[in-house]
Amino acid sequence: MKKKFILEPAREIPVTREADVVVCGGGPSGFIAAIAAARNGAKTLLLEHYGFLGGMATAGLVGPISKFNFRGERIISGIPEEFVGEMAGRGGAIIDLQSGNVPYDPETYKYTALNMVEAAGVDILLHAHVVGCVTDPCQAGTLTHVLIENKSGRQAIAAKYFIDCTGTGDLVSRSQLPWKMRNKYDGELQPMSLYFRLGGVDTTAFDLLMAQDGVKYTNVALKRLLMEEVDAGRLTNFGGPWAVHGSTLRDGQLSVNATRFRGNAADGDDVSTAERSLREDVMRIVKIFTEKVPAMRDAYLIDTATQVGIRETRGIIGLYTMTLEDILQSKGFDDTVAYGGHPVDIHRAANSKQDVSFLQEPYAIPYRSLVPKGATNLLVAGGCLSATREAFASIRVQAQCMALGQAAGTAAALCARAGIGVAELNGKSLREELKGQGAIV
Ligand SMILES: Cc1cc2nc3c(=O)[nH]c(=O)nc-3n(C[C@H](O)[C@H](O)[C@H](O)COP(=O)(O)OP(=O)(O)OC[C@H]3O[C@@H](n4cnc5c(N)ncnc54)[C@H](O)[C@@H]3O)c2cc1C
Repeated sequence: MKKKFILEPAREIPVTREADVVVCGGGPSGFIAAIAAARNGAKTLLLEHYGFLGGMATAGLVGPISKFNFRGERIISGIPEEFVGEMAGRGGAIIDLQSGNVPYDPETYKYTALNMVEAAGVDILLHAHVVGCVTDPCQAGTLTHVLIENKSGRQAIAAKYFIDCTGTGDLVSRSQLPWKMRNKYDGELQPMSLYFRLGGVDTTAFDLLMAQDGVKYTNVALKRLLMEEVDAGRLTNFGGPWAVHGSTLRDGQLSVNATRFRGNAADGDDVSTAERSLREDVMRIVKIFTEKVPAMRDAYLIDTATQVGIRETRGIIGLYTMTLEDILQSKGFDDTVAYGGHPVDIHRAANSKQDVSFLQEPYAIPYRSLVPKGATNLLVAGGCLSATREAFASIRVQAQCMALGQAAGTAAALCARAGIGVAELNGKSLREELKGQGAIV
């Protein structure tokens, strides 16, 4: 059908809230950014699309939380470590694995994240979808308001600083600041995957604590079964499978990452088709597993994730763009704000392959990769930082996104305190500030 357009009539929109810092998206990067901004004295508002926090960790059930350690040494501390420690205190996380991967219980995650955000004094608006922004007509790169839609209708929220933690760059893409889809680097986006969890499994038959350093892990027996399904034309594609303690840590339960859909998760049609198609695949996979795997004979589907997992979409074009070279030949930066240690981990969209390059040492991530070129009052953290697709294939995991959230939240609060633009903030001072707050930088 030929694309048709209409003109939306101009209308008055109420300005319903004001803040020093507005964080858009309450996933791993966003809720940590909000805590950091508030703890550093900024009047902070957190906007989240769902009725709970955690993003892909809770809505997507993706786990375990990777990666706090490199070869047994802590590389992420600060608020992210405090968070997983609080979850562990509630019996909802395993935090002492040598790998630094943290299996967790999603309900404990939702509750702990909300609890810590509230305790920091952050104002939270749940069920708020960020749909746009208003830019100062006299200053390109300066946002004045973010636009949201919720049950009350369309509203504007005024703020001095904004942080895009939507994972998909929803705010940046509605601004005039530069970004590009990650497939513009080499033509492919990593696939979407719908997680599911199984109960009633004889988990003594599984290696539940995957991803030891330097070991490429998938369940070989389950993989063979799914390959037979693909060869027989009953399943289009699959990944892994990884059937582990990730978003579950209880005996008898597994979280399973096995589905794959090729598409662009920033495209409304694609993501809708992915949801429908992958739900079908989950049912087929559960059937095969329960019929053919003795340890799963009595297994049942506990749940599927609230939404498909989105690995990559948009990234900003920042003051610094992380490259594969930065990951593999770790160099320090004056403005280092976090370290990464996850392998360069690329899931192929067209088949069941996974390309993994393990690292020799942890690498540094600079503040400048969170600053869009030309921005005066907008930062990003998590899924839309400035990185080539290969570099992002390592940085993209949760603990790193959380650490970047702490950096962005702290940076926005420091900028608000000093009344300066985000590109003017001295990276070395930010680093010292983060160090003082327990972050490893
Ligand atoms: C299939 C899959 C498997 C993965 N496996 C692992 C793993 O094993 N370990 C690991 O550590 N990481 C894993 N990851 C990566 C992990 O998901 C990311 O590191 C992490 O979720 C990124 O955090 P984020 O805060 O940037 O974004 P997200 O987690 O995507 O959070 C974004 C938040 O913003 C909200 N939001 C989005 N758009 C809007 C909007 N317009 N308005 C308001 N709110 C909005 C969302 O609801 C969400 O809460 C996996 C990812 C996928 C997809």
